[in-house]
Amino acid sequence: MKIEILTIFPGMLEGPFGESMIRRAVERGLVEIEIIDLRSFASGRHRQVDDAPYGGGRGMVFKPEPLFKAVETLQERSGGSRARVILLTPQGRTFNQEIARELSGEKRLLLICGRYEGVDERVREVLVDDEISIGDYILTGGELAAAVVVDAVVRLLPGFLEEASVAEESFSGFLLEYPHYTRPPVFRGMAVPPVLLSGDHAAIARWRRKQALLRTRQRRPDLLEKAALSPEDRRLLKEMKL
Ligand code: SAM
Repeated sequence: MKIEILTIFPGMLEGPFGESMIRRAVERGLVEIEIIDLRSFASGRHRQVDDAPYGGGRGMVFKPEPLFKAVETLQERSGGSRARVILLTPQGRTFNQEIARELSGEKRLLLICGRYEGVDERVREVLVDDEISIGDYILTGGELAAAVVVDAVVRLLPGFLEEASVAEESFSGFLLEYPHYTRPPVFRGMAVPPVLLSGDHAAIARWRRKQALLRTRQRRPDLLEKAALSPEDRRLLKEMKL
C-alpha cells in the first residue's frame, strides 16, 4: 500500500510514523508513507495556500489551486493506480474499525489535512472520494486525524500482525475484547482469575468469550445488536442477565 498525505505541517507527522510498529511496517515494505508539503504546489513568492472566505467571517480557507495541482500531479505521476482521495473533516463519516478495514484493502490512499476553516468547497466536490472524521470534536488541523487513520489502517495490512490477534481484538465481530492479565498472579491482593492459570485452553476460550460478551453488554450495548452471536453466546448472555 502507498499512502500520501498532503499537509502544510509535514513535521507534525514525522513523529507518529518514525517510531515503533508503523516505522517497522515501512522498513519491511508493507507500506510506503509519503508526507507532502502542500506549499510546494502553491505559487508566488510566499507560496500562499489560504485566503479569506467569500461572504466575510473569521478565519482562512485553503485555496483550490494548490490542492487541485497537488492531487492532479500525484494522481498522474503514479500511472495507472488512482489513489482514493480522503479529506479529513469533522463533517465526514465517523471513522471506525469497519472503515479502517475497508481502507486497508486499497492500493493507494491520498489524505488531505485541512487547517483553519477548512478547504474551498470545490475541492470537496471535485477531488475528494471520501470524507472522514475521527469524532465529534474540532481539531486545529487534519494531521492528527490522518495519523489516527493511517495507524489503524496500517496495522490491518496483511503481515503486520498475526491474523489471530486482529480477529480477537475489540470491534472485530462487534464485540469488545476480554480483559487481559500478566504476571504476577497476585498483585496487592488482587488475583488473576484462576481459569487463566489452569492451562485448560477450552475453558480459557469460554471464559474470554463470556467476558467479551459481558463487557460489550455493559459498555457498548449498541455493538451487540450487530454482533454475529452463536446460540451458545445467547445462552451465556441470558445466564448473565439473571
Ligand atoms: N470550520 C470547520 C467546521 O466547522 O467544520 C472546522 C475546521 S477545523 C478547525 C480545521 C481542520 O482540522 C479541518 O479542515 C479538518 O481537516 C481537521 N479536523 C478538525 N476536526 C476534525 C475531526 N474531528 N476529524 C477529522 N479532521 C478534523
